[in-house]
Amino acid sequence: MAAVPNITLNDGNEIPQLGFGVYQIEPENTAEAVGRALEIGYRHVDTAEMYGNEKEVGEAIRASGLDRSDVFVTSKLSNAFHEPDEARRAFDTTLSDLGFDYVDLFLIHWPLPTAYNGDYVSTWKALEGFKADGRARSIGVSNFQVEHLERLAAETETVPAVNQIEVHPYLTNETVRGYGREHGIATEAWSPIAQGAVLDDPTIGEIAEKVGKTPAQVVLRWHIERGDIVFPKSVTPARMEENFRLFDFELDGPDVEAISALDKGEDGRTGPHPDTFAYVPG
Ligand code: NAD
Repeated sequence: MAAVPNITLNDGNEIPQLGFGVYQIEPENTAEAVGRALEIGYRHVDTAEMYGNEKEVGEAIRASGLDRSDVFVTSKLSNAFHEPDEARRAFDTTLSDLGFDYVDLFLIHWPLPTAYNGDYVSTWKALEGFKADGRARSIGVSNFQVEHLERLAAETETVPAVNQIEVHPYLTNETVRGYGREHGIATEAWSPIAQGAVLDDPTIGEIAEKVGKTPAQVVLRWHIERGDIVFPKSVTPARMEENFRLFDFELDGPDVEAISALDKGEDGRTGPHPDTFAYVPG
């Protein structure tokens, strides 16, 4: 089977373009799911402190017998810990929960512009410290809008390596993606199949039939053709396999365009809006 390509980030590190997401996988099911994903061939796992399953992700990677350096691991700072001293403590806890002395990528999970006096800049400076001491090989952000990225550019030294945002055929999020393209920030597309909501779309169904692949494979391949990084989530082994088999076919330009044209703008958004989301775990 064709290998998963790597994307080179703006700091020179490489990330597999396809990974495995573990949002909404219960801790008791996580080690088994991640173990299965690693058997299938996934070498990139996307977790977060707020998912509550970092320990089990670490356990599964150790149990797999793979070298730590063979698996790209991302985690994210909880919304509860944006204040810099708290961010430093939370990052220590992330590493000890994972049982690793570094993560490949660490992200600010949400900008929370209406909490902490909108001070995600000092939070970002804390992440710059994690990169400087080598415990985060790369650092990035998630759910940052253009104005949030512009503020980091004006007030800090480091351009985020990635911005992880909601992207799928019903919310193509072109403005934020475009800013990333211009400034060397790789886009990671979360909810790449909109948690299943795009799979019954007739346009996607027709293309899937034409190329002899499933709707999920067509949508995931669309992301790959556009150069974004994806990590679909499933705990069903057959779907995990299906979602991994994206590199033995291509979509032609008109099919990519037809899927991009399904964009519904804000009406297509399934998750919270980054400008107003202010959830802070108690
Ligand atoms: P997703 O788009 O990956 O959809 C997952 C759901 O789709 C599954 O629960 C399953 O019901 C269904 N599914 C998966 N594969 C399928 C297939 N082949 N055929 C039919 N149905 C299938 O949604 P997601 O889990 O929300 O997003 C993926 C990952 O993105 C998460 O696990 C997490 O790592 C990340 N994420 C990040 C944020 C953020 O704020 N940074 C938010 C949401 C998700």
